[in-house]
Amino acid sequence: MKTTTSLSPSLRERLRAQLADLKMPGALEALDDILRAVDGGTLLAPAAIEQLLGAQITLRNNRRLVAAMRSSRLPAVKTLADFDFAFQPSIRRDQVESLHTLGFIERRENVILLGPPGVGKSHLAISLAIAAAQSGRRVYYGTLADLITSLEEASQAGRLSHRLKTLVFPSLLVVDEIGYLPISRTGAMLFFQLMSRRYEHASTVLTSNKGFEEWGEVFGDEVMASALIDRLVHHCHIVNIRGNSYRMKNHAEVSAALRSQLHPQRTTADQPSSRTRRRGRQEAPTT
Ligand code: ADP
Ligand code: MG
Repeated sequence: MKTTTSLSPSLRERLRAQLADLKMPGALEALDDILRAVDGGTLLAPAAIEQLLGAQITLRNNRRLVAAMRSSRLPAVKTLADFDFAFQPSIRRDQVESLHTLGFIERRENVILLGPPGVGKSHLAISLAIAAAQSGRRVYYGTLADLITSLEEASQAGRLSHRLKTLVFPSLLVVDEIGYLPISRTGAMLFFQLMSRRYEHASTVLTSNKGFEEWGEVFGDEVMASALIDRLVHHCHIVNIRGNSYRMKNHAEVSAALRSQLHPQRTTADQPSSRTRRRGRQEAPTT
């Protein structure tokens, strides 16, 4: 291992001891490289301090993420950095980026992501939850169906108030997939109770493939749905995604690759049949 020349070994050892004493293993691990860059004249002291602290913050955030992945039931790691905005031009990038600075959680506001399947609603809901977890906040993820099942089970076991407390506590709750599965009337009422408790108390990120006008049908009760929507949208950011499915993008690329392997003589100028074209138009966004 290379050693640096200008920093006295005793000072280096004192720095190491201080970082160990402060329990800063990320900074400790980065120390030698940073000191080498300082000695080599490629790094100034303020930047060195910033890098040293940055290394510790990165380690801490990764640890928080690992812990959150265990406790929050997040189904995958999806981040803003992995999101391809070019594929989804209907999304206002500045809105989504600003949401990831998490001011909405401080203000106890909600986020509702609406749009057809595959457009990235769950991806962005999860990336918000991950950003929140990395900032040290408690997060919890569930599909609407999962959350309702857990509330129903708790209710039957006489533990509803305990379960409600657990779900009201996180600074950020993700309710994914509103509208995919039918909900019982009891289930809808339990969910309404949960959202009423979280209202103005903590933020919720919700995703749905159904517009608000269809939520009456989803929850089996127009009056309850409109009371729910009323609370949710009171302090709320709505991200309306109108675009094509990212899943279909991959599917289209794979099938194009397979087609060109099977029929190398055909070119990309091949047109789909008029029947497929018609169906494609029907699937295209209407607004
Ligand atoms: P939705 O919840 O709207 O049905 P998802 O968020 O589950 O869609 O997206 C489907 C898959 O496509 C996921 O693996 C997601 O990470 C990916 N995906 C969707 N949109 C994008 C995008 N714009 N950039 C990168 N990956 C995307
Ligand atoms: Mg989804």
